[in-house]
Amino acid sequence: MAGALEIREIQGLCASPGVAVGTVHLAVEVAADALPPGDSPAADREKLRRAVAAAIAELKALVGRSDEESAGILDFQIEMLLDPVLVEMAEERILAGDGAALAWVAALDHYIAGIEEASDEQLRARAADVVDIRNRVLGALTGRAPEDFAPGSVFVGKDLQPSLFLAHDWTAGGGIVLFDGSIASHVAMLARSRSVPMIVATGRFEVADGARLLVDAKEGRVVIAPEEARIREAKSRMAEARPAEPPRAGGTIETADGVAIRLSAIINDPLEFGSIDPSLFAGIGLMRTEFLMTSPTDAFNEERHYEIYRQALRWAGDAPVIVRMLDLGGDKTLPDLGARKSESFMGLRGIRLLLARPELARLQARALLRATAHGRLGVLLPMVTVPDELDAMSTIFEEELAVLVRRGVQTRMPEIGMMVEVPAAALMLDRFSRSAFFSFGTNDLAQYLAAAARDDRSVAELYDAAAPAICRLIAGGVALADAMKRPVGICGEMASEPRHIPALLAAGLRNFSVAPNRLADIRSAIGGLYSDGLPRRRRAE
Ligand code: PEP
Ligand code: MG
Repeated sequence: MAGALEIREIQGLCASPGVAVGTVHLAVEVAADALPPGDSPAADREKLRRAVAAAIAELKALVGRSDEESAGILDFQIEMLLDPVLVEMAEERILAGDGAALAWVAALDHYIAGIEEASDEQLRARAADVVDIRNRVLGALTGRAPEDFAPGSVFVGKDLQPSLFLAHDWTAGGGIVLFDGSIASHVAMLARSRSVPMIVATGRFEVADGARLLVDAKEGRVVIAPEEARIREAKSRMAEARPAEPPRAGGTIETADGVAIRLSAIINDPLEFGSIDPSLFAGIGLMRTEFLMTSPTDAFNEERHYEIYRQALRWAGDAPVIVRMLDLGGDKTLPDLGARKSESFMGLRGIRLLLARPELARLQARALLRATAHGRLGVLLPMVTVPDELDAMSTIFEEELAVLVRRGVQTRMPEIGMMVEVPAAALMLDRFSRSAFFSFGTNDLAQYLAAAARDDRSVAELYDAAAPAICRLIAGGVALADAMKRPVGICGEMASEPRHIPALLAAGLRNFSVAPNRLADIRSAIGGLYSDGLPRRRRAE
């Protein structure tokens, strides 16, 4: 019987613990696939022409509502857009394989840089107008409103994009149930850091939009049309399991034999600054920036980057803040950002994509360099495989630093370190002499070592079973880093899992970046162990 009040239970896997009760928001499944990141050059050209036309129409409407002076400025912008030169420059890049948005931004940035270098003061002053034009057309190209849903409801669907998660207001509660998905996916990580209950891998099930749902995430259980007693029972179980507040010890804890372990925070979203106490952490060990830039408009907005980095440094005070450069590609793509070739985890991802799109790398480098004036900023490079990549990015920082210094901007060179998440790099840390520090990214290291994709639940067991191999690889890497006298730590999810802590200590790690809501558990796990990973009790016997 398929009656509306029929109670049904579906079993999945817990991706983020907690209990949520709400009405179902059933995802529209075409959303992600209907927006291919790159089209054919002909389609991209057409898309660009339409966006330019839309921008001109917007400007004309604005002229009608403006005073004489403003109208003059807007008229100038309209003239620029009507001039085919700008569009033709972008079209050349489209023919070379860029998506419409990237081609437009890259062409305009090149043009803007030329204007900024002009000796004529009047011409230089026009640069701001061109920036405005660039952003207006970019907005028309990418300004699709995401399919948001009512606060407090439970998202049910095949998968959920990180950008949609970030655009949603979770303050009213709610949860996530995915037919597919994986506990190692980025959206799962975001859910854990925001304490949004989430269940994955339920398999497809029938449920009506608007039905009432209980998400008992710790148990991996979804209940359709739950009884009140069932909801009360799940909520009281959750309240009992809540960990005690960790002591405020500035982010260090000693093992049973007195070895200090540093605990830094992983930050995925600036909203977290409002709810996390900085005195509990030794700063930020990993700040992911790709989640902060949910559209190409954001990704290419230097001021937005700069403001967020400043905010992080303000939050951390005297403690270090390690900001990771954009790790786009894999499951973290931006429409139109050349993501076409980088769908694969093995493709154009992380530093590979940044070096293939140097406009973006330079923009982020500038924002990071400017932010060094506000605290102890370090830069972390994602997906480094060979030393040449590190050298190329260091050169970009040096060049951008020189430009900023010439302009009189207060800045300095930050320490630049690398993620260790590709086995070819993990085995050869001694070759990366330019890296100021190393951070093991076990989420990716596991998938590349076990040849088991982190977002494929059919191989989730293999992904998990790679833990001993990872720890052996880490131990070798720690020995190399120690010999180089370079700090080494871990920022993968393994460090937020108490069951892995003994092996990670035994591998020699002393710097852990953890998900803030796992801090109490990790502190108590470390406090019960010797620095070689053996438990207090066993030594005493
Ligand atoms: C990792 O790979 O362990 C990591 C921290 O990076 P991300 O999960 O963002 O790929
Ligand atoms: Mg990674």
